[in-house]
Amino acid sequence: MYSSALLKNLLAYGKIIIRNKHKPTHWSVQRKKIHPVDKALNHFDDFYKQVFSYNWPSIRRGLLGKQKYVAVINNYGDVEETIAKLENQGALNMRTLFHLEKGYIQEKYEENKRVRYLEKIWKMEKQMDNKFQEENNTPEKPDSKQVKEYSLEASLRNADIDSSRLVDGDSREMAPILAQFLPATKIKGKEDWIPESQHYQYYNKDPNINVVIEKQHDFHFPEHLNAYCYEQSNYSDFELPKKGITGVYNYYLMDGGSVLPILALDLKPGNKVLDMCASPGGKSYLALQTLYPEYLVCNDVSYSRVSRIFKVLEEYLYDLNERWIKPNRLKVTNSDGRSISENNFDRILVDVPCTTDRHSVIENENNIFKPGRIKERLQLPELQCALLVQALKLVCEGGVVVYSTCSLSPIQNDGVVYMALKQVWEETKLEFIVKDLSPALAQIRSVFKLADQNLMKYGNLVIPFVSQNYGPTYFCKLERIK
Ligand code: SAM
Repeated sequence: MYSSALLKNLLAYGKIIIRNKHKPTHWSVQRKKIHPVDKALNHFDDFYKQVFSYNWPSIRRGLLGKQKYVAVINNYGDVEETIAKLENQGALNMRTLFHLEKGYIQEKYEENKRVRYLEKIWKMEKQMDNKFQEENNTPEKPDSKQVKEYSLEASLRNADIDSSRLVDGDSREMAPILAQFLPATKIKGKEDWIPESQHYQYYNKDPNINVVIEKQHDFHFPEHLNAYCYEQSNYSDFELPKKGITGVYNYYLMDGGSVLPILALDLKPGNKVLDMCASPGGKSYLALQTLYPEYLVCNDVSYSRVSRIFKVLEEYLYDLNERWIKPNRLKVTNSDGRSISENNFDRILVDVPCTTDRHSVIENENNIFKPGRIKERLQLPELQCALLVQALKLVCEGGVVVYSTCSLSPIQNDGVVYMALKQVWEETKLEFIVKDLSPALAQIRSVFKLADQNLMKYGNLVIPFVSQNYGPTYFCKLERIK
């Protein structure tokens, strides 16, 4: 607070500019303005606390903290020089990090296998020993007696149960918390269990539809896709991209989480690909950098956002018209994804509009929590579902659809996947399986922080975390089997 004399002096020297018509004591000046970012944060505090329980404060810190980026090398620019420069600056190739982690997991697996094998031999020896003792009527060895007395089964039989510590697993408060601790096998059979808050009963399970989930143990990281990142807790910034001798930028900066939906797509050479909601074009760029698609359609409903796709493509692919558009290798379309009719795509990415959680808590501009956008926000799951349903209808047999969002909301994520599968099951004879990527994703943990798998039904979720601050990125892989 300024003293009135000082205030007068400051005003006289023009140091303070009064912008309000009302006096500073007027209620409209005094009232704290609620900005869209505050609304978003309040909403997330209410909702996500119930979903992520004690992990929410750390996710929240990540969301509000400094986001990390990756630099994805442009194969049409100065590749070698750019890679050498980034590596000199301490950036690491994501593919190499994944391979190292995979090797480490494999080693651990072999070691555990060896230990299990040795334990089995030890048990067999023990049994033979006991049998020999019984047959020869020799007294038991003191150590084998101890094993019997302290075995788990015996302890459980003799234990007094402390009933004050029993919890009701079906209670609203306890379910999400318990989900943190329960191994997956324990919630098997509780198919109706949904982790989101009970006020969000967005979908009702249909007993007739059975979602088939198949585990995937590995994924392919395309040889030509080079995404550079800084290690955990290294918050260095990448310089802004520069144009090289071919006149195009040397790399594209994006949230690291964006790489994962493209890896989940499992692109193969010669694929016909649709990026249904493509603007500004980050994931289309990633798909092109694998050098695999033979034909790529980048679509967006918004005319102004379609021009952003063109801008990105022009900045990163030289001779766009002659080398890409005219030979029909690349098409940019401006349609509502729900009414696209071109079909038989091998791969479709459905990176839907969502609550863009990170943007919503830090940026008032273009914020979906603005009062005027309530209806649009509430209708998001419906739109997301319709876009995914259309993609499922356009993909060829044996093809893959990846659904992705940058939201933490289980409704916009697994909820929409379930609703879309249900609708396709009701309306068509097409059959899909959900590919559970969790085993394959063990190799990404040195770079990304993933949500506890017990909280997820179908897809995977990169959660913001201060030292690995990417995402949120939700992605779910669906394969058409019929
Ligand atoms: N995939 C983009 C990337 O990685 O750069 C980001 C996509 S952004 C999350 C969602 C996009 O969906 C927006 O550009 C929006 O204009 C577009 N969109 C919204 N409704 C759509 C619809 N009905 N059909 C197609 N695109 C739509």
